[in-house]
Amino acid sequence: MIPLADLREQYRRLKSEIDPAIAAVLENAQFVLGPAVENFERQFASYCGVSHAIGVNSGTSALHIALLAAGIGPGDEVITVPFTFVATIAAIEYAGATPVFVDIEQDTCTMDPSKLERAITPRTKALMPVHLFGHPADMDPIAEIARRHTLVVIEDACQAHGAEYKGRRAGSMSEIGCFSFYPGKNLGAYGEGGAAVTNNAQYADTMRLLRSWGERTRYEHSIKAFNYRMDGIQGAILGVKMKHLEPWTEARRALAATYDRLLAGSPASPPKARQDVRHVYHQYAVRLEQRDRWRAHLADRGIQTAVHYPVPLHLQPAYRDLGYGVGDFPVAESVAREILSLPFFPEMTDPQVQEVAGVLRAGLPANAGSVA
Ligand SMILES: *Cc1c(COP(=O)(O)O)cnc(C)c1O
Repeated sequence: MIPLADLREQYRRLKSEIDPAIAAVLENAQFVLGPAVENFERQFASYCGVSHAIGVNSGTSALHIALLAAGIGPGDEVITVPFTFVATIAAIEYAGATPVFVDIEQDTCTMDPSKLERAITPRTKALMPVHLFGHPADMDPIAEIARRHTLVVIEDACQAHGAEYKGRRAGSMSEIGCFSFYPGKNLGAYGEGGAAVTNNAQYADTMRLLRSWGERTRYEHSIKAFNYRMDGIQGAILGVKMKHLEPWTEARRALAATYDRLLAGSPASPPKARQDVRHVYHQYAVRLEQRDRWRAHLADRGIQTAVHYPVPLHLQPAYRDLGYGVGDFPVAESVAREILSLPFFPEMTDPQVQEVAGVLRAGLPANAGSVA
């Protein structure tokens, strides 16, 4: 079986570093925030090329406090994309604001800046591009439109640790960048985790208050806030894993290049990357006609795949109240029908890539995907 990802293999290789780091937290009993989290925050801020990182308990929490710190609230509209994980728009609603969608670009699955200005209204306060699958959104035109309309930009970089656009790191190209350390992300905790990064000392200060009950001193609450603190154990694990993030990212890029080469001329179209970006391939997502039949066929051959995402957010039952319908975002809808994430993780071997590519190159057998 070739899994979609292999976190067990990753742990096996890291065990000798991870176990003592966890034990140290248990010994000093700094279970919430504390020195391991502070150490990780320093490492991660430096990695992103920013001055401040605020460790929190999920990427969703990072998005929520970023919006609040930027002053987004009830009556405000935040423009984002319908082709993303649900947390992007859930966080906008947690802040009391309304998500407004613009369609994505066909090639990169990220916000289409040419459609952005049409979506701006007098209530628009912020833009939230998503660096989906680890490919940065086209940030220069997005920033230019934001400047012209005095809008805040917050990056959803939850899938884009270490990605770059014109030499700038994901998370550093806007007022605030938000990351997730959910176990399956390119940098993953052994539980939930997230961080917001910024160069703005004021935003950093507000986000530190928002993650921990608005306390500067214990039991003095300067603002209404949340319990969004990062665990000490997760900080220690992430601190260890930081050392491996660049080698893992380079391994992902090398595997993607191998897949690209082997899939040329096959029914699967490899993901496209802009020339001026460093794509970090959180997912290696191809396009395939008859995607669901392919998925069943690959499963028959012991190859695990996933669909990120089968239903764009504007067509999700939970968000019917936003008032969108079929046909509103045709690119997102067509990508959702054809996208397929192939097995992809830094420890994956070339023979495994060859096996997956071999099945795809052989074409879809006539009876594939039908119930046996
Ligand atoms: C994972 C993810 C989130 C949410 O992160 P959690 O840590 O799971 O809360 C938000 N946006 C995107 C694009 C994600 O992939």
